Amino acid sequence: MDYDVIVAGGGLAGTVAAQAVAKYAGGAQILVVDRSPPVMPGSKSVSGWICGDAVSKEAVDYMTSRTGVAWGEPEIEHKVKGVMAFSPDRETAIPFDGDGYMLNRQLLPERQNERSRRMGIEFHHSVNLTGLLYDDGQVVGVAGVDGSKNPYKKTAHVVIDATGMTSMLRNQISNTDKIERKVDRRDVESTGRHIMYFDKGIEDTTQFDPDYCIIHLDQDASPGGYGWVFPKGEDKVNIGLGVEKTLLGARNARLNKRDTVTTLIEEYVQVNEAIKNPRLSTDPEDANNATGNFQVSVRRQNDCLVAGGFLLVGDSAWMPKPLDAGGIGPALVAGSIAGRCVAEALESGDTSEAGLWQYNKEFINEYGYKTAGLEVFRRLIQTLTNDQINYGMKHFLGNLDVEAISKGEHPDFSALGKLGMIIRGALNKTLADGLRFTTRQNKKLTEHYYAFPETPDGFAEWRKKLHVLLDESNTKLKRYQK
Ligand SMILES: Cc1cc2nc3c(=O)[nH]c(=O)nc-3n(C[C@H](O)[C@H](O)[C@H](O)COP(=O)(O)OP(=O)(O)OC[C@H]3O[C@@H](n4cnc5c(N)ncnc54)[C@H](O)[C@@H]3O)c2cc1C
Repeated sequence: MDYDVIVAGGGLAGTVAAQAVAKYAGGAQILVVDRSPPVMPGSKSVSGWICGDAVSKEAVDYMTSRTGVAWGEPEIEHKVKGVMAFSPDRETAIPFDGDGYMLNRQLLPERQNERSRRMGIEFHHSVNLTGLLYDDGQVVGVAGVDGSKNPYKKTAHVVIDATGMTSMLRNQISNTDKIERKVDRRDVESTGRHIMYFDKGIEDTTQFDPDYCIIHLDQDASPGGYGWVFPKGEDKVNIGLGVEKTLLGARNARLNKRDTVTTLIEEYVQVNEAIKNPRLSTDPEDANNATGNFQVSVRRQNDCLVAGGFLLVGDSAWMPKPLDAGGIGPALVAGSIAGRCVAEALESGDTSEAGLWQYNKEFINEYGYKTAGLEVFRRLIQTLTNDQINYGMKHFLGNLDVEAISKGEHPDFSALGKLGMIIRGALNKTLADGLRFTTRQNKKLTEHYYAFPETPDGFAEWRKKLHVLLDESNTKLKRYQK
């Protein structure tokens, strides 16, 4: 083998996974292979590192405590006290996530790569990976084309796929029937954002707040998604929105419009009265990253994260949280866990599917237990009217629900509509029934995830039951959607 471990994709998840392997498997030969050129390491596309840039302090601390790598300035560009999600009428706000950071995603990989090199990790840039190498049912390396258009092949005991949403390695993997290859379009958000400086407009913390990341729910402005105004300073902002394409089509038909993600973003920036004279950042640290569109998944993570000699981390495993598309936190958690599990597999000499299986269990126990329930919850929320969201956020969310949402958990709506609670409007009654239903399904799904099999043997049975639960959820959910 050329290396012990090859990390395919040197983005956020890839560099953390590589550092975690280096930390736990002292002396291991580790290679990170990335498509982007050395001047734009870890970028998602030619438009840069398209992201809202927000991550909770808790997730960064988790990664630091496992890998020993601490992030600081300048890759942490601004600190915030949390996220505030506003109802369409802006009358109700739910705080979530707590203290957090606004990252500079262009500087972060530069710093990450410097640190990784100091840990002995090697990098190959400008290599477009197109597939995996196999031997006797095991993944044993990667293949692609290098920057001079020459064929590229490298072998390793383990390949960690961190090539993001559109992973060609996952799409074509052939030594497993457990890993899902394709994502459903309705589980993907089309998103975009600008990084901008602005002059101060009116003072209104529902439109810009230097201390809080703001999320605007509004089915006309961002159907099936949300708009965001995330502060990067007193006069600097990451502003953008995401939509679900079929819901955008329905919204356009309803309003007789022909908007796209790009036109919606322009309008969203324009109507913000706290932001005047907005202009794209020309700072050197944003030069390759000031504007762009990209996609992000909002479903549970891949049903299985490992195959013989192979693991998925980050967006290639569809890890962003179904409710808010936050993918940095789970990527940090997964990268840290994957690194240790790979180190243990190398140590024991067993990098087969069974040897890497523990990663499935540990990711689920740490984070993945809640994602299927949140996926069902997200499907319900996405189809609500603005009036229902206004009503629900004002009348249905108690302190405990807000606390659950703030921890990324599914709120417990089981008591909704009981104890003589008066719910006004037929649609709001249906919503209450729908929320109680998602609570029940979430409980079943969470229990099922905690019962994820200890070894690959039990997976077929486990997956069968998971899909029974998901199919049942999706079928019955229709009753509660308008
Ligand atoms: C508009 C938008 C806003 C978002 N906002 C937030 C937010 O505020 N907070 C949050 O937590 N999450 C957010 N996310 C999600 C977050 O950006 C991702 O979850 C995160 O970047 C995932 O990191 P990753 O390393 O898995 O994938 P990526 O960042 O996509 O990195 C993949 C890497 O693999 C490389 N690569 C891809 N294909 C190949 C190939 N064939 N060969 C070689 N290399 C390859 C790429 O060049 C890149 O370096 C947002 C996403 C979008 C699109």
